Amino acid sequence: MDLKIKNAAIIAVGDEVLCGDVVNTNAAYVASKLESSGIRCAYQCVIPDGYAPVRQQVDFCKDNFDLIVTIGGLGPTEDDLTKEAVADALGLELKKDEESERLIHEFFKTRSFIETPNNLKQGEIPEGAEPLINNVGTAPGVYLEFGRNIYVLLPGPPGELIPMFDEVLSRKLAPKAEFGYSEKHYLLWGMGESNIEQALRDNIQTSEKYTLNTYAGTGSVRLKATAFAENKTMADALIAEKDKEIKQLFSELLLCEENADICKVAAKLLLEKNITVSSAESCTGGLLASKLTEISGISKVFPGSAVTYCDEVKMKVLGVEKATLDAHTAVSRETAAEMAEGVRNYFGTDVGIGITGYAGPGGGDDGTPVGQVYIGICFKGKTEVVGKIYKGSRNAVRERSVNDAFALLLKYLKDIDI
Ligand code: ATP
Repeated sequence: MDLKIKNAAIIAVGDEVLCGDVVNTNAAYVASKLESSGIRCAYQCVIPDGYAPVRQQVDFCKDNFDLIVTIGGLGPTEDDLTKEAVADALGLELKKDEESERLIHEFFKTRSFIETPNNLKQGEIPEGAEPLINNVGTAPGVYLEFGRNIYVLLPGPPGELIPMFDEVLSRKLAPKAEFGYSEKHYLLWGMGESNIEQALRDNIQTSEKYTLNTYAGTGSVRLKATAFAENKTMADALIAEKDKEIKQLFSELLLCEENADICKVAAKLLLEKNITVSSAESCTGGLLASKLTEISGISKVFPGSAVTYCDEVKMKVLGVEKATLDAHTAVSRETAAEMAEGVRNYFGTDVGIGITGYAGPGGGDDGTPVGQVYIGICFKGKTEVVGKIYKGSRNAVRERSVNDAFALLLKYLKDIDI
C-alpha cells in the first residue's frame, strides 16, 4: 500500500531533556524539516527514559497521527528501550539485522573500542523494519511502515540524528507527504507584534491551507506564511497570491522578504550599494561591529569600529569636544552626534554611527534614565540622532540599541523610518 502522511508526532525520550539539562534541539530540527517536506508536526512530547513512557506514547500516537518519530533511547544501556516499547506496541518481534550488526563490529574495530554484548542489542530492529544507517555512531535508526502509520526511531545525539535525517530519511519521507508545501518569510520593523497581528487579522484571510505566524524579535517582527495544498505548485500559488496583500499592507514596515535578521539586511544593502560604514560604540561595547563581522566579505564596506567607553577616549580618538561632554554629558544627543562624525572622519567612511547610553542596571542621572540610548548617524554631511528609552536587562538594551542603529542605517540606505 502506498502510504500517504499528513501529520506527525515527535516523542523525545530522555531524562536529561525532561529536566532541562539538554535543550530539545532535535525535535525543533525534525519538526522544521518535516514541515518543509509537507508534513505538519501536530504533536510533540518529552518523556522519561524507560519502557513504559515510550509504550504509552506510542499507543496514544498511533491512533492519532500518521507519522510517529521517536528520538533517543536507542543506545546500548539498560534504560534505552525505545525499540522494545515500539515493537511491543505493534505486536512485533525484534530481529537481528545483519548489516547493522556488521556495521557495529566495523565501528568498534576501526576505532579500537571494546565491543560489549550490549552493543549488539543496537543491531536489532522490529521485524519488517528497515535500518537507517548511522555513519557517525553505533545505533542504527529504524524506519517502519505498519498499518496506516510510519514509525521512525532516531538516535539522541544531534551529531548522529542530523546526518541520518538529511542523508537517509528525508528522501524516504518526501514522497510520502500528502501535501505540497511552500513558505515565505518577511521581516517587519517599526510596529509591535500585537498591532501587526491585528492588522493581519483585519486584512488577510487565513485558512487550514494558508497560515500566518508572527514572531517578536528585538525591535523587529518576523512574519512567516505557510501553505499546505494539493501539490507544491498550488502551495506556491497560494503564497504568491497572499504575498501581494501582505506587501501592500506592510509596505512601510517591510525590511526584507527572507528569514534574515536586520544586521544581515543592512550588510547586504551596504555591499550592494558599496557604501562604507564605521561605528563608535560606548554602551554597546562593539556589539554592532561584532554583528557586522559575522558576515563574510563585510570588510569591503566596514573598515573598523572604535569602542570608546570613557570620556577621555571619546575625546582623544573621536574628537568629541570637552565642552560638549561638560555641557550635555556623555549620554546625550550632542555626544552621539560628535561620536558619529568623529568615527566617520577617523575611518574615512561614507557613514559614521555613534551609540551612547545607559544600558543599566546602574547609571542614569536625574534627567537621563537607565535605558536611555542615543544613536547618531552621519551621512552626506548631515547628522541625525535618534533617542530611545529601552526597558529590560543590560543585554536587552544593548541588543535593541544595535538593532535600532541598523534600522536607522537602513532608513538612509532604503528610506525606511524606524
Ligand atoms: P546513545 O545512548 O548511543 O548516545 P541514544 O539514541 O540512546 O544514543 P540518548 O542516550 O537518548 O540517545 O541521548 C544521547 C545524548 O543525545 C543525550 O545525552 C543528549 O546529549 C542528546 N540528546 C538526546 N535527546 C536529545 C534531544 N531531543 N535534543 C537534543 N539533544 C538530545
